[in-house]
Amino acid sequence: MDDQQITIARIYLVGSSGRLSMDNMPYRGAVQIQSVTEEDPSIPLYVSDSANTATSMATGGITSPTRISTTAGTDQTLVTIMEMARGSGMQTGIVTTASLTDATPASFGAHINQRTCQGPENMVGLQRLGGREVMTDCSHYLKRNGGPGSISEQLAASSIDILLGGGSEFFDQASEQEPSMTVSDAARLNGYQIVRSTTELLELDADSKILGLFAPSTLPVRLQGEGNAVAVKIERVSGEVVLPEPFSCAPNPAFDGTPDLGTMTEIALERFDRSKSFVLMIESASIDKQSHARRPCGSIGEVEQLNEALDIAIQYAQVNPETLVLVTADHSHAAQLSSPDGGLLSQNFASPGHFARIRTPEGGLMGVNYATNDSPLAEYHTGSQIPIYGFGEEVDMLPSFLLQKEIFSIMVEKLGLVE
Ligand SMILES: [Zn+2]
Repeated sequence: MDDQQITIARIYLVGSSGRLSMDNMPYRGAVQIQSVTEEDPSIPLYVSDSANTATSMATGGITSPTRISTTAGTDQTLVTIMEMARGSGMQTGIVTTASLTDATPASFGAHINQRTCQGPENMVGLQRLGGREVMTDCSHYLKRNGGPGSISEQLAASSIDILLGGGSEFFDQASEQEPSMTVSDAARLNGYQIVRSTTELLELDADSKILGLFAPSTLPVRLQGEGNAVAVKIERVSGEVVLPEPFSCAPNPAFDGTPDLGTMTEIALERFDRSKSFVLMIESASIDKQSHARRPCGSIGEVEQLNEALDIAIQYAQVNPETLVLVTADHSHAAQLSSPDGGLLSQNFASPGHFARIRTPEGGLMGVNYATNDSPLAEYHTGSQIPIYGFGEEVDMLPSFLLQKEIFSIMVEKLGLVE
């Protein structure tokens, strides 16, 4: 989530004179992301993936793409803020619209050399990642080789109090060492109450750890283009540019019944014992995923979900003034707010990327351009600085520019932990 995506969502959701909740937060800074190559960790990379950037925030370490809280090249464990908080008797939680085994939640709750190792059956060979397949080898993390197992197995064995998101396909796999048992059975033995629907989530009352699995993988998103429209390559007929038809955003029918991010956030906050400190990581994951898929309305709806979760967090912080709320992103992305004529210089020249024209509720036309990759499959991340926003007593002390790993240091200091 970067300034382009926030601006596109703001214009669509509240109009160009409107404000999102994050726009009203008293602290606003810029964050430089950092990454290195796996082959030589002294060589920097300027465009990152969600695994290594989440690792920076969760551990304060800089690592290579696809690594989950482990060091580049040497594969050493990086201690997470969740482990430090837990070690000091604090409560912890992860809420996400992705699979709980996806890069961001995994970096806060597990350690492994490749993000694709989401379940016991995904530890070696070609594994799915977005629209492609990635050669994967996490064999030294297999339990039979003395390792802690895949990401779902590590989460099932963890002491994180609240885990809410998608990813049942990785928790319903057979446990590596006890084939008669699934990973979710192992989670139950480790004290997790498992819920799989909004109704079950709302009916929870027992004071136990909870594992919510609300979809096989990523949760369905709230919005889609009218008629399921997405950004497309600009056509040329007899050499002349033909711009795509404008469209508005519409509800995604598949979202019905999915717990929204605000509801999951509210339930997580209610379950924490207010006499003790806690760390809660809340992720609106498909701002990114819908940008890979060139679905501008999808990203807009997920910024709206983030905004609603933020409203709940701010209300909580107003009643509990020792709370620090930080909003940030892992990296920037492909979507650009561009001219609705596609940058048309004459009838013959327009954007070479994928392009959408969005009809806004305030009566305008917004161009959204994607041009990092001309593959029919997907766009990729970009390397811009990203925003950070804050609400809480100490935000006056926060710097206006920081390195991504310093977000970890801010949390450590806030919680009174020692790095
Ligand atoms: Zn991504």
